[in-house]
Amino acid sequence: MTASLKQELEASIRAIKDYPKPGIVFRDITTLLGQPRAFRRAVDELVHPFAGNRVEKVAGIEARGFILGGAIAHQLSAGFVPIRKKGKLPHDTVRIAYSLEYGVDEMEMHRDAVTAGEKVILVDDLIATGGTAEAACRLLRQMGADIVAACFVIDLPELGGRKKLEALGVDVRTLVE
Ligand code: AMP
Repeated sequence: MTASLKQELEASIRAIKDYPKPGIVFRDITTLLGQPRAFRRAVDELVHPFAGNRVEKVAGIEARGFILGGAIAHQLSAGFVPIRKKGKLPHDTVRIAYSLEYGVDEMEMHRDAVTAGEKVILVDDLIATGGTAEAACRLLRQMGADIVAACFVIDLPELGGRKKLEALGVDVRTLVE
């Protein structure tokens, strides 16, 4: 990625202090999504390494991972798998508990959303402690998925999420820090 694109993407992301609670700087990608060029370039950059690879599914983490993941799945001609907060999916699910930067939660996916051996890319807007993405990787692997990579627009490297995923043997791709 060129330095100017990186700068453009960084400038398109809004930082909101003390949201959702004091001490957190929330990285708001709605401003990136609202800018046609920034949205397209971010998706293109995330897709680029996988063009020509046989990626079968893109798994997006609720909610901002749905927006990016849907666009990435379309570009790769892959299917899309929603990973949701508990109680939102209508069919038979697999569930996992996880901790995040500001709380504890559970996430689910449909049991039949991926089949054993399917090549899957995991997508979310941001990786912080990596707790969310790690749980999603465990859920996907529980169903036999072959995780090709985990992709995020933003990495908060001081929180160690990338290292956590890499320790699981997951290739991590991010655009800005
Ligand atoms: P973590 O599990 O700590 O890696 O947190 C990542 C998840 O929480 C992602 O779904 C992010 O959207 C959200 N998140 C955590 N910290 C922030 C932040 N500072 N700004 C925006 N989203 C965040």
